[in-house]
Amino acid sequence: MFAQKGILFILSGPSGVGKGTVRQRLFEQETHLKYSVSATTRNKRPGEEHGVDYFYKTREEFEEMIAQKQLLEYAQYVDNYYGTPKEYVEEQLEQGNDVFLEIEVQGAMQVKENFPKGVFIFLFPPSLNELKNRIVRRGTETDDLVRNRLQEAKKEISMMSEYDYVVVNDNVDHAVSKVQAIITSEHCKRERIETQYKKIMEDDPNARTIS
Ligand code: 5GP
Repeated sequence: MFAQKGILFILSGPSGVGKGTVRQRLFEQETHLKYSVSATTRNKRPGEEHGVDYFYKTREEFEEMIAQKQLLEYAQYVDNYYGTPKEYVEEQLEQGNDVFLEIEVQGAMQVKENFPKGVFIFLFPPSLNELKNRIVRRGTETDDLVRNRLQEAKKEISMMSEYDYVVVNDNVDHAVSKVQAIITSEHCKRERIETQYKKIMEDDPNARTIS
């Protein structure tokens, strides 16, 4: 209808809360969203694909991306780097596409500094016990890693107050519906669309005949 920049949505929350599952289910339904594939130095898990799940990098390659300021944000998380390539996000937003990031909380806070107009969604675990079960069930982590990830999770939950929305992930379908509702609401926000709608009214030939 009119040229409008895309909206940046950031889904964040503790490791093991199910961000990946919610994001995948959301993308099965929301074809207009662009997913920003992150770069990481962690090892590829079975079934994952380079360029789809992550861009897998060596530490040297990742540190070069940091030095070249190619990342919108990055964080060291459980001994690995994770980061969002900047160019893709900026291009897509400029073209009017909504971009979706699924990242941990340190990175989300950096995005907040650079993109205060981003929409920050915190995915909340049904309980800490459930969170532990999910991390253990994933079966790809050693005991030490599980402990580290749970410790991180407790710190991360305390960051909730920095977010615009909180969605509890007690059921994936319910969580996805809530994220979709947030996306729709953000597109209807008066401050985002007011200027464009005013212009439509001014340009409407009928505007002159209605007083
Ligand atoms: P995993 O190793 O389980 O794929 O991801 C570990 C954590 O890193 C998850 O909380 C995930 O959301 C987060 N993560 C993935 N990509 C990025 C990124 O680009 N930046 C940041 N800061 N965190 C990320």
